[in-house]
Amino acid sequence: MHHRPGRHFLQIPGPSNVPESVLRATDRAVIDHRGPEFAQLGREVLAGLRDVFRTSGPVIVYPASGTGAWEAALVNTLSPGDQVLMAETGHFATLWRNLATRLGLEVEFLPGDWRHGADPGAIEARLAADRGHAIRAVAVVHNETSTGATSDIPAVRAAIHRAGHPALLMVDTISSLGSMDYRHEEWGVDVTVGGSQKGLMLPPGLSFNAVSAKALEASRDARLPRSYWSWDEMLGPNRSGFFPYTPATNLLHGLREALALLMAEGLDQVFARHARHAEATRRAVRAWGLEILCADPARHSGSLTAVLMPPGHDADRVRAVALERFDLSLGTGLGKLAGRVFRIGHVGDLNDLTLLGALAGVEMALTLAGVPIRREGVQTAMDFLSGSLRPAALPGAAATAPA
Ligand SMILES: *Cc1c(COP(=O)(O)O)cnc(C)c1O
Repeated sequence: MHHRPGRHFLQIPGPSNVPESVLRATDRAVIDHRGPEFAQLGREVLAGLRDVFRTSGPVIVYPASGTGAWEAALVNTLSPGDQVLMAETGHFATLWRNLATRLGLEVEFLPGDWRHGADPGAIEARLAADRGHAIRAVAVVHNETSTGATSDIPAVRAAIHRAGHPALLMVDTISSLGSMDYRHEEWGVDVTVGGSQKGLMLPPGLSFNAVSAKALEASRDARLPRSYWSWDEMLGPNRSGFFPYTPATNLLHGLREALALLMAEGLDQVFARHARHAEATRRAVRAWGLEILCADPARHSGSLTAVLMPPGHDADRVRAVALERFDLSLGTGLGKLAGRVFRIGHVGDLNDLTLLGALAGVEMALTLAGVPIRREGVQTAMDFLSGSLRPAALPGAAATAPA
């Protein structure tokens, strides 16, 4: 057996690092999922999730990867042949589009360049032209994990409103929930899709649908076949903390702990921490002399940064060197970005030194792979991170200035 000392650096944009206390919470005997101890756990996590999604409505939990919750959002609300408007923000939007097409929906895919978020103006124009209201849903990825560009969800909602269109709004927050500001209810979203393994700091295996009253209403007439994903089957047992089939009990123990960690830090502090680490990362990338893939400075992701390679250099070569030499995993370029970008994940459980360790690994790997860079990225990130802190009092010194 080959042993690598020290901890592996998992700096991909999900799955993210799982905090020790969450790992410990999952490491326990399995309990009876029809017994009273489970009911307490079920009620607690279902209530806690509402705080993270910022909704007073139901949140459905599936023992599935995020892709399952994508499917659930569609099959619970739509019927065969229904029209859906989606925005081509990148690889994940494309996968969701493919899934919708395979389910028998008529998808119109608003083209995008994989460097920007969804265009609310284009959505408004398309909906305004749909006088007969044939389009039943608009589906957008909040944080496009393949590009590091986010979409402005309140602006999308406002576009639907201005067009006077009744379409449902569905949003994928799989890589933004728990790391970037998101408000299911206030932003008027009908179905929010989430996953466990990114901002929620859990292992892979859980995914979520937060559901509005309008989406529940739509589910009464929706005719796409559904059984395992059916909201109706879930909502009854959920009221008393139970599930219609065997839930992922130990992941739910982990979820209880992860929700407690997020609330103890405070969601606003969690978002600010991610924004600060994202800014430090972008400064490092620019100091290296490399280009950030997201071309809209107002829409940079808080949870990852995608870095474009100079022509003639292979991003996967840099990733291989980072893994081999420094035990650091970086995100690969997905879909048409294969080989052209690598992605630095800064989502979930990390602090300044975790980020600096990752950036040091990237800087060394770029150098070893022969990519022409200025070796100033880590220093620039350190200057930003330390400069954005207040000077510390010396140990033992009396506190002078008020905080
Ligand atoms: C990770 C991710 C997915 C896919 O989730 P799986 O858990 O791999 O099924 C979908 N959308 C976005 C935005 C993601 O980041």
